[in-house]
Amino acid sequence: MKAKSFTIFGNPVAHSISPKMHGFAIEGLGLDATYTKTHLEGACRLRTLFLESFDAANVTVPHKEAAFGQCDEVRGIAQEIGAVNTLINENGHMIGYNTDAEGFYRSMQDFPDIKSALILGAGGTAKAISYILKEKGIEVSILNRSASRLEAFENFKTATWENFEASYHDIIINTTSAGLEEETLPAPKNIMIGLFEHTKYAIDVIYNKETPFLKMAKEYKIPTKDGADMLLYQGVLAFNLFYHDTFSFEEIVPFMQKAF
Ligand code: NDP
Repeated sequence: MKAKSFTIFGNPVAHSISPKMHGFAIEGLGLDATYTKTHLEGACRLRTLFLESFDAANVTVPHKEAAFGQCDEVRGIAQEIGAVNTLINENGHMIGYNTDAEGFYRSMQDFPDIKSALILGAGGTAKAISYILKEKGIEVSILNRSASRLEAFENFKTATWENFEASYHDIIINTTSAGLEEETLPAPKNIMIGLFEHTKYAIDVIYNKETPFLKMAKEYKIPTKDGADMLLYQGVLAFNLFYHDTFSFEEIVPFMQKAF
């Protein structure tokens, strides 16, 4: 059988650990495949490149929405989210999925009985997470710095820093990039105090770093986790799609985990 060829499209893509994660799974499961990085300045050639050269792929920033628009068919929750992070070449047809959403939901299972969630941020990641939580019956509110991106969340309760009123939520999820490069909180300190006084759990989707958000949550003795499991699980779910569910989730996890 011909060796399979996978890649990740992004800009930048050099920092991505997906090739390492998938590489460990390919090696560990004894498969004949390669997983490369493809730096794409713009997304206009994504579809052609993908269908010419790859059996399946992942897509990262900033091409997830553009890839969605180029798919022949989009399956599952990606249809609502409007962004795909996984592509499958099905007999010359580009099929798109979103495994970020389910990856996040699985990572949240460490925290039981979540009925309400407050998401900080209104970008692509907030969209994926808000749709899956809503689908699972969780009441979701969104708080964002500026109003313009909130327009995409018309079926959710939304607020900006100016009109936000603190209330109880089982979990607070930071999907902003505040804390990624600079030591900043995702909202002004007085708002953050109100949030941490009224919650049980906190998750930051940023990984491999204790952000100011996570540090402050710990000061309030709130159980926390970062985004490493979300990243791991979206990769496992994507790998499962690459191999049409040949392997179980539990079989793939230990191999991919070696990349962290
Ligand atoms: P987007 O650029 O789509 O959205 C960024 C959001 O952050 C916007 O709502 C923006 O608000 C807000 N924001 C940015 N800077 C600040 C700040 N200083 N203070 C308050 N709010 C701010 O980003 P993505 O959704 O693509 O990614 C967000 C984060 O999620 C990144 O840190 C990324 O690394 C992480 N991520 C993690 C994944 C994982 O698997 N663990 C997967 C994907 C992403 P405004 O609208 O006002 O500009």
